[in-house]
Amino acid sequence: MAWDFSTEPEFQEKLDWVERFCKEEIEPLDLVFPGAVRSRHPKVKAIVDPLKQQVKDQGLWALFLDEDLGGPGLGQLKLALINEILGRYGSAPAIFGTAAPDTGNMEILAAYGTDEQKERWLYPLMRQEIFSAYSMTEPHGGSDPSLFKTVAVRDGEEWVINGEKWFTSAGRAADLLFVMCTNGIFIVPRETPGVEIMPYPSLHNHIRYTDVRVPLDHLLGPEDGAKVLAQRRLGGGRIHHAMRTIAQCKRAFDMMCERALSRESHGKVIAEHQMVQEAIANSYAEINMLRLLVLWTAWTIDNSSTQAARTQIAACKYTCAKVLRDVSYRALHIYGSLGTTNLTPLQAMYAGAPTMGIADGVDEVHKVTVARNVLKNYKPHEGLWPSEYLPAKRENARKKYADLLATEPDLAAYAEAAERRAMAH
Ligand SMILES: Cc1cc2nc3c(=O)[nH]c(=O)nc-3n(C[C@H](O)[C@H](O)[C@H](O)COP(=O)(O)OP(=O)(O)OC[C@H]3O[C@@H](n4cnc5c(N)ncnc54)[C@H](O)[C@@H]3O)c2cc1C
Repeated sequence: MAWDFSTEPEFQEKLDWVERFCKEEIEPLDLVFPGAVRSRHPKVKAIVDPLKQQVKDQGLWALFLDEDLGGPGLGQLKLALINEILGRYGSAPAIFGTAAPDTGNMEILAAYGTDEQKERWLYPLMRQEIFSAYSMTEPHGGSDPSLFKTVAVRDGEEWVINGEKWFTSAGRAADLLFVMCTNGIFIVPRETPGVEIMPYPSLHNHIRYTDVRVPLDHLLGPEDGAKVLAQRRLGGGRIHHAMRTIAQCKRAFDMMCERALSRESHGKVIAEHQMVQEAIANSYAEINMLRLLVLWTAWTIDNSSTQAARTQIAACKYTCAKVLRDVSYRALHIYGSLGTTNLTPLQAMYAGAPTMGIADGVDEVHKVTVARNVLKNYKPHEGLWPSEYLPAKRENARKKYADLLATEPDLAAYAEAAERRAMAH
């Protein structure tokens, strides 16, 4: 019997180390030096680099990559258990070498890059000597890739890229831009002439690519392979979002429970009011449903592939957005006025929930994916009645017992009485 919800003791020790390290080292760093992890300031780096070294010493660096791609090869299930902790602390993913958008870019570089491309870009990205961004969405529409227009045209020994991209996260700070063109994914150093970053939005950048020239070897993977590479990149990214979202939900839940036990109203602690109990009970069940969905999906990826788990991944993506929205709302509400301020993390968590329903694909598109894929396993019923139409089923079932019913009047009477009772409703 292979279904098992236990954690091996050796891996539990790793998880305990991660939990302790995040609490004792990363949380204080985030509170005093927010954003330190991407800073290139030598004094800030002198604080952050030893923390990264501790992670490397534990063999937990670049967790998301399989061994053959240069990571520790933990697999997605173990990664999920670690991400359930990391997702609670802003800079933890980066300190563990597993932060978006670099993770997805590294994943496609590792899977599709030539040895030369890996040497030049993958290993420096893994060492965080450089950073990258992913330019896919276009200003006129993000959900439908068939609307994308950015294109690379070959001119002698170069590709010439023209187009416009929108919401390239951290594009301004990136050394490399992974640009999805209609005919392939190209790696464009940000300093290349013709790359123009608009002033707004400031974090997720609007970028114009005008006659941007890159050498031929800046094409990643095959020409016309953009969709395949993008799927590989986004599939991994989505499940990692869901893993980290569990951590956010648990954080909101822990806060909700602590507050419910600490505050009084109308003669009792608010935890004793039934509507507060309902909020806690629903949140408990929903977080665990999400967690099981995500862990099952991670297990499926480990035992097959990201592609084989695509329906589950899509379900994780919109479910994590919904659970985060509902649980963070309930926690904020139970905090009353304090919940509406930025004096606790709840306000930001709740404000972040709609973002989770849009980033890496809007909920509706993932729901369409799930419904379409699920429906492939079904077919319409023949004739007027659904296959679960009971009178028809019963008639068929009676054929199985035809001989018995013909020779045993008691049993025939029993069956007829049962049918009359069933039809009476
Ligand atoms: C925090 C964040 C980070 C991001 N980072 C990046 C990044 O690094 N690189 C990058 O390229 N992009 C990035 N994006 C962009 C993201 O991929 C797009 O926002 C997303 O694909 C949706 O595209 P859109 O914003 O153009 O919305 P639209 O496609 O305009 O969709 C808007 C709304 O239309 C409706 N809709 C659209 N299609 C359907 C449909 N098929 N069925 C039903 N309703 C539909 C939905 O209500 C949807 O919310 C990021 C987004 C966010 C929020």
